[in-house]
Amino acid sequence: MKIIVCIKQVPGTNEVKMDPVTNTIMRENVAAIINPFDTYAIEEAVRIKEKLGGEVYGLSMGIPAAAEMLREAVSLRVNKAVLLTDRKFAGADTLATSYALSKGVEKIGGYDLIICGKQATDGDTAQVGPSLAKTLGIAYATDISRILEISRDSMRCMKITDDGYEEIEIRLPALITVVKEINMPRLPSIKTMRIARKTEIETVSLDDVSGDETRAGLKGSPTQVRRTFVPVHEVKSTEIQGTAAEQSQKLAEILLKM
Ligand SMILES: Cc1cc2nc3c(=O)[nH]c(=O)nc-3n(C[C@H](O)[C@H](O)[C@H](O)COP(=O)(O)OP(=O)(O)OC[C@H]3O[C@@H](n4cnc5c(N)ncnc54)[C@H](O)[C@@H]3O)c2cc1C
Repeated sequence: MKIIVCIKQVPGTNEVKMDPVTNTIMRENVAAIINPFDTYAIEEAVRIKEKLGGEVYGLSMGIPAAAEMLREAVSLRVNKAVLLTDRKFAGADTLATSYALSKGVEKIGGYDLIICGKQATDGDTAQVGPSLAKTLGIAYATDISRILEISRDSMRCMKITDDGYEEIEIRLPALITVVKEINMPRLPSIKTMRIARKTEIETVSLDDVSGDETRAGLKGSPTQVRRTFVPVHEVKSTEIQGTAAEQSQKLAEILLKM
């Protein structure tokens, strides 16, 4: 079984700075972590590998420093890791991100299953998984909370819906996105950390994957962030004086005027 896990590097803080000119996230010098949902995707892939045999690939598109994050993924028992990194990938919206990842998937090749997190904690769109599946032309299912049965040809799983759960069957190769209920990720061990330190992270440019420049990065992004801002919440306060009866009368008058 060859499983590819899409792993995004996200800021490990809520105080993300935006570039005022390009309106893109300033990722340099920000402590970065594996997108929390992707740790569940990694763990599930590793569990399948342990059951059926095979290999788990970690795939990311990001800045060169994301290689360290992929090394951490290796310490979580991913076997090989590929980082798509190139100025030409920069400023990608979800469509261009999916295109870049599809080229990475093609480069890895011969996969049975792709697992993504439900969503990224920074971009938060939950679009990349389904969009990647569409770009690759494979089936997908989102919000998977449990894999009930899996073989080389198909899998049966539980999907969380607004009203409860759905049991679905999906033929492989396919893509799923997973929610945190699916498992409890293991911590790295000393042994896996040692392996991670020695593992080479393959870095790949747009040219290396014969990518189309018009479909990658800012050029390939039909949507662009025009403006980012923190909403201003104004709080006005009025002190109401007088007896309890006067205060409640005044308060009622204020509320009625609202
Ligand atoms: C309308 C719009 C315009 C945007 N414009 C810009 C822009 O101009 N510049 C800019 O910098 N950003 C921009 N972004 C943000 C950028 O699109 C996202 O960071 C990126 O596309 C991933 O989307 P997401 O964070 O919502 O991931 P989600 O769709 O929430 O992520 C779901 C899963 O997909 C996988 N995944 C997502 N991204 C990656 C990745 N890079 N590598 C590996 N796996 C991944 C992970 O498994 C993740 O759990 C824009 C976003 C939107 C919605």
